[in-house]
Amino acid sequence: MTKTALVTGATGQDGRYLLALLHSLGYVVHAQTRRGAPAWAASEVRWHVGDLTDAEFLKSLILKTQPDEIYNLAAISRPILSWSMPRETAEINAFLPHQLCEVLVKHRPGARLFQASSSDMFGDGFVREQDEDTPCAPTSPYGVAKLYAHRIVGAYRARYGLHACCGILFNHESPYRPLTFVSQKIAFGAALLSRGIKTSRELDERDSPIVLNGKLMLGDLGVQRDFGFAGDTVEAMHAILQHPVAGDYVVGTGEADSIQEFCELAFRAVGLDWSEHVMTDPKLLRKADSHYTRANPARLRGEIGWQPRVGFDKLVEMMVYARLEALDRPARLD
Ligand code: NDP
Repeated sequence: MTKTALVTGATGQDGRYLLALLHSLGYVVHAQTRRGAPAWAASEVRWHVGDLTDAEFLKSLILKTQPDEIYNLAAISRPILSWSMPRETAEINAFLPHQLCEVLVKHRPGARLFQASSSDMFGDGFVREQDEDTPCAPTSPYGVAKLYAHRIVGAYRARYGLHACCGILFNHESPYRPLTFVSQKIAFGAALLSRGIKTSRELDERDSPIVLNGKLMLGDLGVQRDFGFAGDTVEAMHAILQHPVAGDYVVGTGEADSIQEFCELAFRAVGLDWSEHVMTDPKLLRKADSHYTRANPARLRGEIGWQPRVGFDKLVEMMVYARLEALDRPARLD
C-alpha cells in the first residue's frame, strides 16, 4: 500500500534529502514551508505553505494530508541564532513538537512521528562519546528547547502509545549547508582561494568578509565534532520510523574530527596548505558551543542496522567540489 509522508521545515538541508528519499521509495510526499515551494522542488511533492505555530494551520495540515509518517524538521537550527530569537526558538523548537503530539493524539493517533532532536541537548564538557543515556545539560536556548521537545515526545509515547521517535542528530553536513555553518565556510574558503579570489563578498557574523585578503577567518580550530553526511542522516530518520517499536536513537558516525582536520582536508582537496590560509579571530569563538561531540550509535546500528555510507574525507571533498562548481555555475546551490 502506498504510504503518505509529511515533512515540516522541508526547504532546509535535511528536508531536501528526505523529500528525495521518500519520493524514491514511492511515498506520496507532502512538504511544509512558510515561504512557498523552492526552485529545486520536484513536481511530485505537494507543498503546503503556512505557519506551524498557527494551531488551525497545523491541525488542517494533518487532516488534509492524512500522513502515515511525519518528519518534524522545522526549527531554528543554529544554536547561536537561538540567543537572539528566544521566543521563536521556544515556539518552533519546543512547543511545536508538543502541539504536534496533541494533534496526532486527537486526530491521527496511528501516524508515526519522527522528531529531530539534537546532540546540543547534551551540553559541553565531554571527553567521551555520547549515547541515548548520556545526561543532558544544554547550554543554549536551542539545546534547551530541543530537550523539551525530546522529553515531551517521549512522554506522549509513554502516555498515549504514540509511535513517536526521536533521532538525536549529531552534526551532519552537505553541499546544501548554509554559509553560516563552519563546515560550509571552510569548503567555500578553500574553493574561493584556490581560484585566486582573495576577498569574498559574503560576510560572516562579524559583518566582515568570510575570506579577507587571502585568509579564511574562523573560531576555535580545536573543536571536535561528529560530522556525518546529511544524505545518510535522513536514511536513518526513515529507517528509525520503520522499526516496529518506537524509541530514541543517537544518529552519528561514531568518529570525531576537529575543525582543523576539516580545514586540512578541504585545502588539500584544492592543492593548498590550510596553515597558510586559515586564521582565527577571538570574536568568532563560541563560549556556549559543545567542544567535543562524538556519537555512540551502537543502538542505531544494532536495532536498525544503519551504517553511514559517506566518511569524513569524502564528505569534505564533496562539499569543496560542490563549492568549486558553484563558483562556475552560481545557481547550482540555490
Ligand atoms: P535547516 O535550518 O536547514 O532547515 C530547517 C527548516 O525549518 C528551514 O528550512 C525552515 O523552513 C524551517 N524553519 C526555520 N525557522 C522556522 C520558524 N521560525 N518557523 C517555522 N519553520 C522554521 O535545518 P536542517 O535541515 O539542517 O536540520 C533539520 C532538523 O534537524 C532541525 O530541526 C535541526 O534543528 C535538526 N538538527 C540538525 C542538525 C544538523 O547538523 N543539520 C544537527 C542536530 C539537529 P521554511 O523557511 O521553508 O519555513
